[in-house]
Amino acid sequence: MLDSLKGLKIYSIANRKCPVCHEGNYFVGNNPYDLKNFDKDKGVCSQCNHKFEIESGFYYGAMYISYGLSVAIGVSIFMAEYVLFDALPLWVYIISIIVGIVMLMPVSFRVSRMIWMNMFSGYGKKEIFNK
Ligand SMILES: [Zn+2]
Repeated sequence: MLDSLKGLKIYSIANRKCPVCHEGNYFVGNNPYDLKNFDKDKGVCSQCNHKFEIESGFYYGAMYISYGLSVAIGVSIFMAEYVLFDALPLWVYIISIIVGIVMLMPVSFRVSRMIWMNMFSGYGKKEIFNK
């Protein structure tokens, strides 16, 4: 997808590719709704041998990204309902926001991990982060 963006972090995030070489896949499967494997990563890039988990506990920081994404999803759902429908009861907003966040959680999980990983790695910068 969008090969002209190769070399930019958005390419790695959108395509779930290794942040260093942008070639190897990060996740085992491509389908985020394969709920048995949506969180399984390959550990090491198949193309450049970059170790994805830089240190133990590295991905705890991705929870902050995930929290921000969940808030953005919730606000988006609320705004869409507020603009499109007249005077919905409060419980409709609450239930639809919860359902929306839960339904998008596998995608949010993957995007937040890719954003977090790309904050600490860069295209062609393997030697700095893999000592
Ligand atoms: Zn790689």
